[in-house]
Amino acid sequence: MEDISIMYHYVRAKDWKGINPLEPERFAEQIDILHKSYEIVSPEDLQKPVGLKPRCVLSFDDGTKDQYTNAFQIMKSKGVPGYFTVMSGPLKEGVIPVFHLVHILLSNHSDEEVWEDLNKLYDLKEVPKLSGIYNYEQNIYRRYNKYALNFFLTESQSKNYLTDKALKIFGSSENLIDQYYVNKEEFMEMKNQGMTIGVHSCNHNSFFGDGEEFYKLEIEPCAKFLKSEMNITPNWYTPAFGGGNNYKEMFRALEPILKENGYKGAFATTPGKNKGLSNFWLNRYDCINVPPFKPIGD
Ligand SMILES: [Zn+2]
Repeated sequence: MEDISIMYHYVRAKDWKGINPLEPERFAEQIDILHKSYEIVSPEDLQKPVGLKPRCVLSFDDGTKDQYTNAFQIMKSKGVPGYFTVMSGPLKEGVIPVFHLVHILLSNHSDEEVWEDLNKLYDLKEVPKLSGIYNYEQNIYRRYNKYALNFFLTESQSKNYLTDKALKIFGSSENLIDQYYVNKEEFMEMKNQGMTIGVHSCNHNSFFGDGEEFYKLEIEPCAKFLKSEMNITPNWYTPAFGGGNNYKEMFRALEPILKENGYKGAFATTPGKNKGLSNFWLNRYDCINVPPFKPIGD
């Protein structure tokens, strides 16, 4: 019998322009459907021999507030466990990763507004003819904005613009972090209610070359934060962006380091089934690629 794990990001209304937001009603429906064929378990349970049904772990990345206000409340009411991860950068250092700033911008302003706005600040007349890599974007302003923010402007110009826009919405970075991310008390409450808490990253960097260095920069400080602030010793890890383009190199480089530091397994973004903990890196299906949206394995 083969186990599965499902990957979730935002569990909130469809009008949110972030990675595949899943509506709370669909999430509740999905749990009920999965429950018929799978036992919904915490990662620790994968160590046990399999029972009558194969197992399914519900796993959550990025620690955004909707995971506490929507996903956790639904899971609590249905009595199912799950695995949530912490990104310590926002909570510990007050640093918000760029991809979240982009989601905030695009969910609060139209692409046309953003394009007009950017043109007031920078000379972007070269952008339309350079932006061909984003031809797949139907909206030409989105195409221009993406090229301008990801390639044309410097990293600090983009980050300053995005931060400025986000702060106009939230008032201050403290408010933004408080409203956008699950906080320490909420994570502790989730843990006390049977949820597993693991490490996602410090600043959501994808894997770069050196395993030891990456561990020291992106994993260890988050684990220390969990220990000192919430008295949680994490045993599970979920790499940011699934490791990015270098994920195979990451699997090889980080596995021995993570094992040495007490980790029992890690959740990748490669789709596929699992057999207990026979592999350290567990495959995951995105929540939109399982019922009620698609049959498992398609
Ligand atoms: Zn992430």
